[in-house]
Amino acid sequence: MPAQYVTGLVCPQCNKVYPLTTGDGLVIKITCDNELRQLRTGYNLDLIAQNIGREIIQSRPEDMWRYLELLSIAGDQKPETSLGTGFTPLIRADNLAKVLGVEELYLKDDTVTPTGSFKDRGVDVAVARAKELGYEIMACVSTGNLAKSTAAYAKEAGMKALIFVPIDIEKEKIAEIAQYNPILIGINGDYDAVNKLGGKISSEHPEIAFVNIDFRPYYGDGSKTMGFEIVEQLGWRAPADIVVPIGGALLTTKIGQSLQEFSYVGLINKANTRIHGAQGEGSSPVVNAILNGEKFVTPVTPNTIASSIAIGNPSNGIDALNVIKGSGGYAATANDYEIVNGMQLLEEKEGILSEEVGGVVVASAKKLIEQGKIPRDKGPVVLLITGRRHEAPDVSSNSGLTDIIGPHIEEFNELYESLETKLK
Ligand SMILES: *Cc1c(COP(=O)(O)O)cnc(C)c1O
Repeated sequence: MPAQYVTGLVCPQCNKVYPLTTGDGLVIKITCDNELRQLRTGYNLDLIAQNIGREIIQSRPEDMWRYLELLSIAGDQKPETSLGTGFTPLIRADNLAKVLGVEELYLKDDTVTPTGSFKDRGVDVAVARAKELGYEIMACVSTGNLAKSTAAYAKEAGMKALIFVPIDIEKEKIAEIAQYNPILIGINGDYDAVNKLGGKISSEHPEIAFVNIDFRPYYGDGSKTMGFEIVEQLGWRAPADIVVPIGGALLTTKIGQSLQEFSYVGLINKANTRIHGAQGEGSSPVVNAILNGEKFVTPVTPNTIASSIAIGNPSNGIDALNVIKGSGGYAATANDYEIVNGMQLLEEKEGILSEEVGGVVVASAKKLIEQGKIPRDKGPVVLLITGRRHEAPDVSSNSGLTDIIGPHIEEFNELYESLETKLK
């Protein structure tokens, strides 16, 4: 959002507004003092409404920066650090539609982004924003896809990348991340332990820009573009139903926000899209809450082959729950067998090589259609296919990890000192 459109960081619960940066220019505020909820960037949508229109957007290059007014950088044009992210295909999937038994089915194909997952959208914005504020180190905690994306965009921006992953993520993913030469630290623990450690590092080291911690509002803003593009590609129509995979649950909330913003600024009428959530059966805290009619998300210990969304304690779980319920959507899970089946359907029927998460989405959509939660003939149904299949690694290569530590801040601080030369 070119500077004049920004109002600050806002609490989604009590609407309290915080300044974007502290006096010394470092972003530190992450959660609201009163509500302990994740903050998001706030926009002056009335002002944006006066300056945006379908023609203006359509006259711009086909990438996610065509929605610049609704993205959170101070600059007023596409950042130089962008790798040309976005405007991925929205595929009319008639073959798959027959199998699932719906009339009008589309796949939003984010397997073809620069590093192969929708994470590039959020990272594009977060890196541009960090660069703008003068940061030199980009970091993230990740199950793999965010790591790859952060490493790639940081490299393009001439910044150092400091990446934290659980040591047991797939070798394929480690090899893919290592291609971009980040400092790649394996943590002895699961994603939720890595995420907790990241929170501590972030508050002790304000000089590090964590894509999905202190820069989470910006990262989230990039994810909105998936929703914007779907609406534009449907001919400025909001879908009737949309199925979103849930990991940390930020994407779900941002799909909801994208539709609301588009209607608020007058690009479409009020959107009545039902937003449905999809998770792996062994890692479904948000779906459980929906199915059991609960108001809160109870953390679980993940166990699913869909490792990119194997998050037991999602940072935006409660927000996603509210978005899904508020939209009249529902939720479903897929077990490992159904996930593989879903991946095969995508490949055989539509030629898309998706990772496990796509299988979760297809299998969950199938159930929601069978249950009548997604009507067969009430308008466009869109499935988000968020990541490309990971390639088998070259067995001759070494692990690719720079170092391995336990999930403890003391261990990180010791390592950080020894990395000083690498980080200069
Ligand atoms: C991260 C990720 C998701 C989930 O996004 P969240 O915002 O964490 O819920 C879905 N699919 C893929 C491929 C991902 O990498």
